[in-house]
Amino acid sequence: MGHRIESDSRKLLGRLRDTMAEDAAGQARLDKIVHLIASSMQTQVCSIYLFRDSETLELCATEGLDAAAVHQTRMRLGEGLVGRVARTRSVINTADAPAAKGFRYMPETGEERYSSFCGVPIQRLGSALGVLVVQSKEAREFSADEVYALEVVAMVLAEMAELGAFVGEGSAMTARHQQPVLFRGTTGQEGATDGHVYLHEPRVVVTNPVADDPDSELARLREAVDTLRVSVDDMLNTTTTVNTEQVQVLEAYRMFANSRSWMRRMEEDVQSGLSAEAAVEKEQSLARSRMNSAGDAYLRDRLHDLDDLSNRLLRILTGQGKETGAAMPENAVLVARNIGPGELLEYGKGLRGIVLEEGSVGSHAAIVARAWAIPLVIHAKNITAEALNGDPILVDGDQGIVHLRPDENVHNAFRDKIAMQALAQERYGSIRDLPATALCGTTVNLHMNAGLMADLPSLPSSGAEGVGLFRTELQFLIRNQMPKRAELSALYSRVMDAANNKRVAFRTLDIGSDKVLPYMQAQDEPNPAMGWRAIRVGLDKPGVLRMQLQALIRAAHGRPLTIMFPFVAQLQEFRDAKAEMNKALDRERILGHPLPSKIEVGAMLETPSLAFAPDAFFDEVDFLSIGGNDLKQFFFAADRENERVRRRYDTLNVSFLSFLELVVERCAKAGKPVSFCGEDAGRPIEAVCLAAIGLRTLSMRPASIGPVKHLLRRVNLNEARGVIADARARGEQSVREAISEWLSKQS
Ligand code: PEP
Ligand code: MG
Repeated sequence: MGHRIESDSRKLLGRLRDTMAEDAAGQARLDKIVHLIASSMQTQVCSIYLFRDSETLELCATEGLDAAAVHQTRMRLGEGLVGRVARTRSVINTADAPAAKGFRYMPETGEERYSSFCGVPIQRLGSALGVLVVQSKEAREFSADEVYALEVVAMVLAEMAELGAFVGEGSAMTARHQQPVLFRGTTGQEGATDGHVYLHEPRVVVTNPVADDPDSELARLREAVDTLRVSVDDMLNTTTTVNTEQVQVLEAYRMFANSRSWMRRMEEDVQSGLSAEAAVEKEQSLARSRMNSAGDAYLRDRLHDLDDLSNRLLRILTGQGKETGAAMPENAVLVARNIGPGELLEYGKGLRGIVLEEGSVGSHAAIVARAWAIPLVIHAKNITAEALNGDPILVDGDQGIVHLRPDENVHNAFRDKIAMQALAQERYGSIRDLPATALCGTTVNLHMNAGLMADLPSLPSSGAEGVGLFRTELQFLIRNQMPKRAELSALYSRVMDAANNKRVAFRTLDIGSDKVLPYMQAQDEPNPAMGWRAIRVGLDKPGVLRMQLQALIRAAHGRPLTIMFPFVAQLQEFRDAKAEMNKALDRERILGHPLPSKIEVGAMLETPSLAFAPDAFFDEVDFLSIGGNDLKQFFFAADRENERVRRRYDTLNVSFLSFLELVVERCAKAGKPVSFCGEDAGRPIEAVCLAAIGLRTLSMRPASIGPVKHLLRRVNLNEARGVIADARARGEQSVREAISEWLSKQS
């Protein structure tokens, strides 16, 4: 870039900043800004268009166009050249605007006199705020340097708009980050919450977009990039695993951190007057808008890397850590791009709601949220770019909708909804101590799923008869090192104490798939859900399994003990696991520890193969528990974490129900109890169908027990069985419609 242009651009930015700092009202300030840009760029026209709502742009200030058009001229996203700049988030630079594709003439502005047009998006971190336009009579294309200067100015405007500098009388002048925004996502966990945003990775706030001394700014930028490079190298050096996905990500990071073109662009931004932070953010904005439009998944991932790297760099420059000092607000709603189960567990049960940009319903983070009955919405696109710490937020987990900074009407309607839900809870409370006995006289045993000590208080309050699934891996996930046997044994003992003689089915460690322990060597597997996980790990590397079995026996200390092995796919695996159990018992006996008064050893049926195991398997297990989450994904070959395919197959599909019936029959023949502990057990309609096909024990998150019991007590399971049989005979693919219709006729 030429030196003259560089210093012109710096002068313009300096004057822009001074104007922003002046004590003028919003409109007057905006008017000064457009005047300043037009005179400095030697164009007759400079205009600023801002979003009024997500679909409409409004002319908010102009130098050169008819002043009467300000706040009158509006266009829809994609309409005219301005609308196209906003929609495509890219520059339009033309010498002959009327001939350009999409041109639409706005007579009230008097713009027909101007031939050349250059519009650049005003955007901040990938979210569009408006469009900055210059126009001139002379038919010429603006030079690359001029376009670049305009982009830099737009960057500064974007920062200032966010800071509320434009907030004035006109409604469109309200800074976009103060406007209500609605996000339509997917339900992860039902329920409604009214709270305040707490960002998992808070955005760094840049307060100084313009810098006076480019040399010292350049030095700051280079120093920060050096620090970044060293930290990425350190991460690579301290990663002990070879050839894992983590290393590949870090290698990509390193490549970006050392990218000359990234560095060169940021240096140019600084030369033209931006502060180091603003330069990083300008390039990050660019990457974000490309990320939004990139069709290729690999490219999107790489742009994601660049985005993460930019965040790290901003943190180094501003000294704002991951915790930017923002205290967790009251009624915190966690907002994140995505989160793992371990990280979520660290936040604890105190969260009011969770909103994720990515995520999946079948993930363990979602299971944790459900266990805690925290409303969860996933796939709320772009929310991390829009939300600021402390923003009011309403999470509607039932509809999968999130209202950010809601207006008063929405807020009031929402409060009513929350009050209604509280009323329903009260109703469930009234049947808490009654059995789930259907009208036909059949009683279904309702148990709860748990995984943490903190879940146990729900046992009496939910009315559960026991813990049908205790996911022991959650304890391992919340730590940063392997727990010791004594710690585990103390914990399991407290769990049994809290259960107060009610049965707790401890499932041995189920790691692998999406449950990755930070302190265990990560495996680089093409398909972890079908990889080295659960009992497969337990049998191949039995050290941890043995330690866990010992801890459980000691915790029981003469009390009854129930253990189940996850993901057993064939008879021999169960035999081997049971042999480990027997060895552990022998060892404890020899050591003189008291043995459990009664011991039940079961298996989880999570792969279709086990349903066809030899009779010996059903004879040898003490009980079976159907892990419907995994079973369903393998039955239909549809990844439980892949939102695209997850919903494709209904749990009430007749093939799946017939398969479950087969399992129920085989268990009945062998005289072995069978329960169902996947997420579907907690959905009332599904629960009725599971009970109708013969399941007598369902285990679910505690909050589901009320609604499931409420419905079970109102139906006749024999009739339900008839409805299922008829739907099947009619050749229906799923019994959902028939069952729902029948249910709607029940009193
Ligand atoms: C299941 O697969 O249904 C199950 C209960 O186990 P998890 O969800 O922990 O894999
Ligand atoms: Mg499972």
